[in-house]
Amino acid sequence: MGLLTNRVVLVTGGSRGIGKAIVETFAKEGAVVFFTYAQSVEKAQQIEGEMRAHGFQVTAFQANGCDAAQVENVINHVVETTGKIDTVINNAGITKDNIVLRLTEAQWEEVMNTNLKSVFLYTKAAAKVMLGQKYGNFINISSVVGVAGNAGQSNYAASKAGIIGFTRSVAKELASRNIRANVIAPGYISTEMTQAISEEARKKWEESIPLGRAGTPEEVARVALFLASDLASYVTGSVIYVDGGSHIA
Ligand code: NDP
Repeated sequence: MGLLTNRVVLVTGGSRGIGKAIVETFAKEGAVVFFTYAQSVEKAQQIEGEMRAHGFQVTAFQANGCDAAQVENVINHVVETTGKIDTVINNAGITKDNIVLRLTEAQWEEVMNTNLKSVFLYTKAAAKVMLGQKYGNFINISSVVGVAGNAGQSNYAASKAGIIGFTRSVAKELASRNIRANVIAPGYISTEMTQAISEEARKKWEESIPLGRAGTPEEVARVALFLASDLASYVTGSVIYVDGGSHIA
């Protein structure tokens, strides 16, 4: 028996990086996994195909997390297919970096909508189902940048700080119905998102991390696995750093 046998899980942004690692880790622990993506049709189909070929239950959806109607469709499809939804992992996120004086309204809105509004939309749609079940949990992926801030990332930091306040509020609202909500705050994790940073900046960043290296998507996925499982049945409203100690450096 896996830690998530027969659990129904939705992961947003599962076509790459941290989301992909969560999809694979959760499916291997017995979960029925649905994941969304924005544009990576081929990558998403490949993950779905490979996982199914190994006997795992994985389904991909192209759906924009900023669009309420598309979000409702995803949740409805999951519930119509399986009869329930146990866990939602709000992982999809983007960066549009600029110093604040050059930051455009478009860059602000794109990041806030993709990173924060989508979390609200998925939470609202899934919470309606979870309230009836009297069971569920949300895992929202923030960032150390949402706590500490970062020059050149004020829009991203605001969206990630927003996730923490939002999640703690939801944890308070829904705890009486046995619904948990927690945050993971990753530090520097090797994915396409961080490949955009120059090699020099990445080296400097790595040197500043107490554990002396970047993290892997699988290291974040394992903490998400803990939070989604009954091992974390008394954990709600928490922010767990997965950052090699960056937040204490
Ligand atoms: P990637 O850039 O590798 O992957 C982003 C994922 O989000 C992709 O699956 C992408 O789909 C999806 N996505 C983007 N926009 C949308 C949208 N509008 N609707 C649906 N899906 C969307 O990111 P990471 O794996 O690096 O990051 C995952 C999360 O972790 C993000 O929230 C990020 O902010 C956070 N994080 C990452 C850190 C890191 O060091 N990597 C550190 C701290 C936090 P598609 O492939 O179709 O574009």
